[in-house]
Amino acid sequence: MTLPKTTAELRALDAAHHLHPFSDMKSLNAEGSRIVVKAEGVWLTDSDGNRILDGMSGLWCVNVGYGREEIVEAVAAQLRELPYYNTFFKTTHRPAIELSAKLAELTPPQFNKVFFTGSGSESNDTVIKLVRRYFQIKEKPEKKIIISRRNAYHGSTVAAGSLGGMAPMHGQSAVIPDILHIAQPYFWGEARQGETPEEFGLRTARALEAAIDAMGEDRIAAFIAEPVQGAGGVIIPPASYWPEIARICRERDILFVSDEVICGFGRTGSWFGCETFGTEPDILVMAKGITSGYMPLGGVMVADRVAEVLHEGGDFNHGYTYSGHPAACAAALANLAIMQREDLVGRVANDVGPYLQARWNALAEHPLVGEAPMLGLVGALELTPDKLGRTKFPDVGKVGTLARDFSFKNNLVMRAVRDRLIIAPPLVISHEECDELIARVRKTLDDTF
Ligand code: PLP
Repeated sequence: MTLPKTTAELRALDAAHHLHPFSDMKSLNAEGSRIVVKAEGVWLTDSDGNRILDGMSGLWCVNVGYGREEIVEAVAAQLRELPYYNTFFKTTHRPAIELSAKLAELTPPQFNKVFFTGSGSESNDTVIKLVRRYFQIKEKPEKKIIISRRNAYHGSTVAAGSLGGMAPMHGQSAVIPDILHIAQPYFWGEARQGETPEEFGLRTARALEAAIDAMGEDRIAAFIAEPVQGAGGVIIPPASYWPEIARICRERDILFVSDEVICGFGRTGSWFGCETFGTEPDILVMAKGITSGYMPLGGVMVADRVAEVLHEGGDFNHGYTYSGHPAACAAALANLAIMQREDLVGRVANDVGPYLQARWNALAEHPLVGEAPMLGLVGALELTPDKLGRTKFPDVGKVGTLARDFSFKNNLVMRAVRDRLIIAPPLVISHEECDELIARVRKTLDDTF
């Protein structure tokens, strides 16, 4: 077969042979895909020669930006030396050893052990097995229900999709039993008339307590949540929410799982989102930013008290061929070295984070915008027909999609979740690039209005 050269030929081949994830197949076939050919820093280049500001860090993952030779070199060197070996059956290799020690150093003090996976979804499948195994070993096998939240995203395998609270995903597939979904802390969308953010945060957190009471503590294994709900629309909880959740988790015999696939590795201005909110999880889920997306890798870290029980249990019958893949671990080590050397977490907390937040928050003045929250470098714009009444558009998602499409035309990648635009640029974005990003968002809002 001769390779096609023109963009049109490539698009036709793509439409003919590629089933894309999370894409509307009908419109994809009609319009064709955007083909990204290269990237540098925060900028993508497509096959038509457009320079596009990547406001989403790929899929929330390219924290150190594109074009980092150091990671490329580390992966190439590792592929030359040992391209693959597994970590099953009491075997390991240097990159997996070094990365597990590095993660123990970077995560909160209770975490010293990691189980490697290939993705966030695989990590959350691992969580389900781990927490159930933990209570089996503790001779409480009836404790197996995991409480999650509506509109949460924990991945798209059957189990991780069930754990997540995305109704459209549940509707298209089988869901696994013993998962319960409670309310999300989405003040703008779900608070009662007259309720303050403080009151709403407490009420929503107490839904966890009510669920534990209703089902019986002897049946609940764990509560899982993203510090900031990402794919659900960047839902940043009111200040009262996390301390109340932390209290409930402390008082009850359940494990608290922090899904840090998006919030981990600097996104919220701390290494991990749980540190930003002051919670102390028993299990910490990671992926994406661990390698800045240069190689696929995920992990589940367990606190010492969980690890001790798992050790007593002997064999854990679970693992992936690519658990701790040497080239992925090498990418992670190089990526984390960059993050530490350039103090990217400090940069988000004290420099570029506050810089972008101030400009982002000011977008709330636009007539189309209901709220414009941002934490660290992750933010949202709630589009509304009526700012004061906090009302939603009758045809939910239509205006959001329109705005997302305008943003694409303006060469800015933003995503739309219903009528909420969301953004999570690489942590290396400069002040000038932040100004450019805001200018493109303003134009997008004006085009949509
Ligand atoms: N958990 C969270 C919080 C996520 O945002 C995602 C992906 O966006 C996942 C899990 C699933 O990760 P993956 O797509 O690597 O399977």
